[in-house]
Amino acid sequence: MGRKFDTEAVSFGEEGATERDAGDVVLPIHVSSTFATDGIDPDASLEGLDPGAGEFLYTRLSNPTRHAVEERLAALEGGEHGFAFASGTSAIAAAVLATVRPGDHVVAFDDLYGGTRAMFTEVLAGRLGIDVSFVDARNPAAVEDALRPETALIWLETPTNPLLKLCDVEAIAAIADDAGVTLGVDNTFASPYFQRPLDLGADLVAQSTTKFLNGHSDSLGGALITGDDDLAEEIEFLQTVGLGNVLSPFDAFLVLRGTKTLPMRMDRHEENALVLAQRLEEHDLVTAVHYPGLPSHPQHDLARRQMSGFGGVLSFELTGGLEAVEAFLDGLAEFSLAVSLGGVESLIEHPASMTHSTVPPEERDAIGISDSLLRVSVGVEHADDLLADVERGLERVSSTIEPPA
Ligand SMILES: *Cc1c(COP(=O)(O)O)cnc(C)c1O
Repeated sequence: MGRKFDTEAVSFGEEGATERDAGDVVLPIHVSSTFATDGIDPDASLEGLDPGAGEFLYTRLSNPTRHAVEERLAALEGGEHGFAFASGTSAIAAAVLATVRPGDHVVAFDDLYGGTRAMFTEVLAGRLGIDVSFVDARNPAAVEDALRPETALIWLETPTNPLLKLCDVEAIAAIADDAGVTLGVDNTFASPYFQRPLDLGADLVAQSTTKFLNGHSDSLGGALITGDDDLAEEIEFLQTVGLGNVLSPFDAFLVLRGTKTLPMRMDRHEENALVLAQRLEEHDLVTAVHYPGLPSHPQHDLARRQMSGFGGVLSFELTGGLEAVEAFLDGLAEFSLAVSLGGVESLIEHPASMTHSTVPPEERDAIGISDSLLRVSVGVEHADDLLADVERGLERVSSTIEPPA
């Protein structure tokens, strides 16, 4: 990437648009499912079916609008190859199928996106007989200790959802490298603007473009990015032929548009998140705030080293259990009670009953997801309005759990 991140975010992959057709400044949404070709190629093979930019055959194999977003995401993550999928979940499924075979073993962070954890336990372990060990990857030695001769994949998230735990990608990449194991990192929470796992030694990055990359809560999608040619070939086969779970042209357009403002949005998300985290931390009714930008975060130093910003998601715990949680939510007007994150609007959710309800209660306890935990996706609204809303929520909690005499 020769130019700065912010410049590539605006135009990389779309530069050719002006030379075509009407001189569009923005790449058109190519809706055609099939593309006319000049003549037959007697030597065509399966590998020859995706000729790349400028030459297209069938939209599942390659589509000009999807191709552009794949190029852009690859550039932003610092990888050679990008692949856009119908969801973050389908991207992660393709990553697993590209790297793991029957009888293999997977080591994963124990604090993962709820859906990914369910995929690993229910599909990999439950249906395909692939053993998965969940470890506290905050300690790189725990990852190393869990490796077996048949380990094929280490799967990490950092920061994690919903507890914002971090793991040291560089240290774990060295362990993975020594053992000849593929290292995949779900970079959804930080986005490539704040963290680039490929630069830190990861082999593969996954994104739910549904979140910060699209950024407007109006598109579902995912992506895989890698610099490894062999891995890319395998992923491309799975994306286009083996699974066919591709991002639609319209969603590709939305993500292309979303990435143009990623740097500005991320800066504002972070600024607002820090204001709220600091306020929550000083309040008597709040027992814990999880945000890597706070000096009190146990891995604040790692965050400073590994990330160029701390992101827009935080979680916190209230005294007073479920009753306090319900009172807090009742007091809010600006935050919608909704799952998902990374959009311009502020959202709040209750992991134990919403995003992580599929994780059995004993495991939730072991990880640290209590009934008192709330996760906030801090939007780009004015910080004063968000702060005022948090104050309203906290006042509602105090009047509920300590009713005025
Ligand atoms: C949302 C999310 C996913 C799943 O992505 P979908 O687009 O909903 O399928 C995976 N990982 C993380 C960290 C997420 O936040």
